[in-house]
Amino acid sequence: MTNDQNTAPTHPHRDPDRVLDVLVVGGGAAGLSAALTLARARRDVLVVDAGEPRNAPAAGVHGFLTRDGIPPLELTRLGRAEVESYGGDILSGTVSAARALPDDGGAARFAATLITDDGRSREVLARRLVIATGLTDELPAIPGLAERWGRDVVHCPYCHGWEIRDQAIGVLATSAMAMHQAQLFRQWSGNVTLFLHSGPEPTPEQLEELAARGIAVVSGPVAGLRVDDDRLTGVVLASGSTVPVDALAVGAPVKSNADVLAGLGITAEAHPSGFGLTVPNDPATGATAVPGVWVAGNVGDMKMQVVTAAASGVWVGAAVNADLIAEETAAAVAARRHGLAEVR
Ligand SMILES: Cc1cc2nc3c(=O)[nH]c(=O)nc-3n(C[C@H](O)[C@H](O)[C@H](O)COP(=O)(O)OP(=O)(O)OC[C@H]3O[C@@H](n4cnc5c(N)ncnc54)[C@H](O)[C@@H]3O)c2cc1C
Repeated sequence: MTNDQNTAPTHPHRDPDRVLDVLVVGGGAAGLSAALTLARARRDVLVVDAGEPRNAPAAGVHGFLTRDGIPPLELTRLGRAEVESYGGDILSGTVSAARALPDDGGAARFAATLITDDGRSREVLARRLVIATGLTDELPAIPGLAERWGRDVVHCPYCHGWEIRDQAIGVLATSAMAMHQAQLFRQWSGNVTLFLHSGPEPTPEQLEELAARGIAVVSGPVAGLRVDDDRLTGVVLASGSTVPVDALAVGAPVKSNADVLAGLGITAEAHPSGFGLTVPNDPATGATAVPGVWVAGNVGDMKMQVVTAAASGVWVGAAVNADLIAEETAAAVAARRHGLAEVR
């Protein structure tokens, strides 16, 4: 899917071959927020965005104070307009690769290959990179499940719990996390069923906890979903029987969208939680192990929701601006000393 928001940079008069202060890859909440901070800091910033935020299948963004319920693509449309209003550029497209340039005394430290929506490819040069490409939810391979994702197949009670409150909620176990998820969703409904599917057998203590809160447990693998009139109505077991549900919670492992970092020697690594792959970074600043390259949002922190991804973008934007100021100060001092030496 691509969006139809913008197909050309906002400032076409600018030299497309110029060296950007900052290239932001990914224009979800994190990338746009970093770009807004940098544009307001009078930095020449370009956001390249493929237009598919992680929550795109959902009808609305929840839990974002003052923006509760806004459609995901409306949020990014507004964010793009705010970045542009401060002189930042937005381009619809994909960055396929990035590499560090040899230090030849020039301003550019990175080159990135971008492919615009019309299929054209070109290289952009930048002093710094902010990678805000989000993550991918690796959904269980159950027929029909991916089509319901973000609608009545959900993962996060804080994103969707209110919308499915008091409904018959199934929880699909694929890991030990499902015990926690079942107890969590019980906060939103008194009708919760845990489908053990491929998850571990609950311990006697866990079974007691589930029973104590009235959570039903169904053994055996799940083979499919029942959908009537475009609504989830049941979970179909491999045994052939169907258990009625209105919504199904899954705990999908996640994987950072880190392909663009490969050429810089950065790869996603296993998160200590065991819940997926993430790009290691300094949690305070988003800095990666490669100087000049930062991550913001879900690509570097799988826990972040929209508002916290936006917040991380602000911090990363400020950290990048500080780094550029340090470089510019060092250059100014060197130039001044050189000038003073020449006068002498
Ligand atoms: C179904 C669902 C519903 C959710 N509902 C909520 C909710 O109600 N409230 C909430 O707070 N959170 C919700 N979340 C979580 C939310 O989606 C994330 O926290 C948020 O999107 C993270 O923002 P981000 O900017 O890091 O990444 P994203 O929003 O995923 O943005 C990343 C952007 O980068 C682009 N991109 C990726 N690779 C490239 C590339 N190589 N070149 C150019 N662009 C690229 C993508 O197309 C995308 O536009 C939900 C998640 C899901 C799965």
